Order: sequence, then structure tokens, then C-alpha cells
Amino acid sequence: MSRYWSELARGLSPYVPGEQPQIPGLVKLNTNESPFGPSPKAIEAVRAAATDTLRLYPDPRSTRLREVLADYHKVAPEQVFVGNGSDEVLAHAFAALLKQPGPVLFPDVTYSFYPVWCRLSGIEHEVVPLDAEMRVRGADYLNRGGAIIIANPNAPTGIALSRAEIEWLATRRADVPVVIDEAYVDFGTETSVPLIRDHPNLLVVQTMSKSRSLAGLRVGYAIGDAALIEALTRVKDSFNSYPLGRPAEAGAIAAIQDEAYFQATRSSTMCNRASLTADLTGLGFDVLPSGANFVFVRHPDHSGQELAAALRERAVLVRHFSGPRTSNFMRITIGSDVELRVLTDALSEILAKGSSI
Ligand code: PMP
Repeated sequence: MSRYWSELARGLSPYVPGEQPQIPGLVKLNTNESPFGPSPKAIEAVRAAATDTLRLYPDPRSTRLREVLADYHKVAPEQVFVGNGSDEVLAHAFAALLKQPGPVLFPDVTYSFYPVWCRLSGIEHEVVPLDAEMRVRGADYLNRGGAIIIANPNAPTGIALSRAEIEWLATRRADVPVVIDEAYVDFGTETSVPLIRDHPNLLVVQTMSKSRSLAGLRVGYAIGDAALIEALTRVKDSFNSYPLGRPAEAGAIAAIQDEAYFQATRSSTMCNRASLTADLTGLGFDVLPSGANFVFVRHPDHSGQELAAALRERAVLVRHFSGPRTSNFMRITIGSDVELRVLTDALSEILAKGSSI
């Protein structure tokens, strides 16, 4: 804190991302990155974009990428917005759409960036408790509050709502914008993109960071009614005209076009999730049903914090969240076969030591 800080800077309580430590041999299962590299075609496209043209600003609207995304999702380019990671797209959605009379509603256990963006944009929020099984209940979002944002599948629980449940909510709350954060949707959860045609209040946000293995490129996007997209564009053009550089746009286009690679890597992740779920269940863990590239697990005899610390001593990093409903759990990213074997071996060893861990 310094006397030079603005009132805004003083009032913020920033999001704390998962650690990115440089420990040799570390098994990193804490930030839901893909264990697979990006499509080789995406890497090639990024390399090919590193030319003399970098002296020029990129297309401020990322027109070509928006066309490719529109084609992929069977919508019009005017229904697509792109940004520097879905974090930036979501931040704009808070300012452009979720700031309504009445507090924005989101679950008590969800992406912990949401309250941070509320602070940044001066938005009140109200958390809606998940039910006893840690599920979002659409009925709890009626007759109260302002706009709504829900991660589907939710994070860090991994539990998903069906498209029919999202449609039910978007219909019942047609009075406000409803934002669905689909960062993890490609790992077996139904997307709500087809609903945007009939629901002008629905904005669906996706990212290239997880299922396209491009967290380092920073590309995210939103799909919704052209009027919602226009609001996002107004905020973007009041903040940063060029959120995507030329290499990012080129890499993202190539990744979307490499459908075979996308299908292969996402099914490997889902397959590894199934075997990890079986292995952890065998070790006595309660594993919440996950539609994401991570699992949220708890053990009856040990707290999440205790287990995460013991894993860290064995150079395996998972994420633990303090908080009344999450502190018993650990969130484990679905890694490669080898990484998951290291994890389960370490957990077997830790649990064999019993209460002395
Ligand atoms: N939404 C959720 C629920 C997330 O967990 C993340 C990743 N931290 C994001 C959005 C943002 O991802 P990115 O900015 O890499 O697109």
C-alpha cells in the first residue's frame, strides 16, 4: 500500500492463481492445464505468424478467428466475442452485462474470480449455496437478485448441469443476463451454445486454455445474441482495442481447425478421469462426479489441506481451497497416465502411514 494508490486499487482483493513453481520433476496437477501439448498445427501457425508483420497492430476485432469460431459453433460472427483468455471475457461480461439493479447471483462454491470482478466493477453479489450434494439448483436462482453467472461444469466441484436445466433457468430468468462459464465443458458436459438462438439473455463463455491445451496463448471467447456481444465490444473498446496478438489469433484458428487432435486429447483426458476416479475410490476417497478435467475429492480420515501438504512433500502439486465447504477437499487436475500413477502411488503411501502424516 502506498499513498499513491487510487481508491480503486486500495479496495481490491485480487484473485490468487494456482502456483507455477519451477521445481524439477514436479507433477503439476493444480491449475487444470492439459497434460498434452497443443495441436502441432497450432504450434506451427504461431511460428508462422512470427514474421515482419508483427510490427503492425493485429485486427482489433479478430475477424478471421471469430468467423472460424462462428462456423465451428454454427452461429454468426456477430454472435462471437474473443478476448485475452476467458478471464478477460468474463471480466468484460461483469462490467457490460452482469452489473444490473440487484446483486449478481452465483454459487457459494465456484470460481473464486467472480467476487473479485464484482469488486473491480463495483457490483454487489449474493452467493447461493450449493445443495448438500454440492450441486447447483436452478430453482434457488428464481425470485431474487439481479443477473446470474454459473460455471458449467462448476469449478472446483466438476459437477455439471444439463442443457435442459440451463434452458429452464434462462427461460425463468429472461429478465436478466445469464452467463454460463463453460471453461471445462469439452470434457463431457453439454454445451449451452445451441440455446443462444432462442435466449437473448444467455451468454456462453469458453476458453482455449483447457481442452485446446493453449493456456499459455491466452484466448477465450463468448457466444451470445449479437446485442450482448455488442455490449462486450463496447467495454473492450474502452479498455484495450487489441486483446489478441497476431500469433494468438493464428494459433487459435489452427487449434479449432484440428478437430482430430481435439477429439483425441479430450477423450484421453476423460479416459484418465475414469481410471483416476476408480483408483481414488479404491483408496477410500469420495470423488464428486466430474464433467471437467479435474476431480474434487475428499477422504473420510484426512483433511484436504493435510493430504495436499503431504503430496507437496513428494513433489506432487494439487489445489486445496480453504473455506467451510471446500477445506476437506482437494482438486486434482487430470494429468497424463504417468503423472496420475505418481499421484496414486504417493497417496497410497501417505494413507498407509495412517494418522501420522
Ligand atoms: N473459468 C473458470 C471456471 C476457470 O477455472 C478458469 C481458469 N482458471 C477460467 C474461467 C479462465 O481461464 P482462461 O482465462 O485461461 O481462459
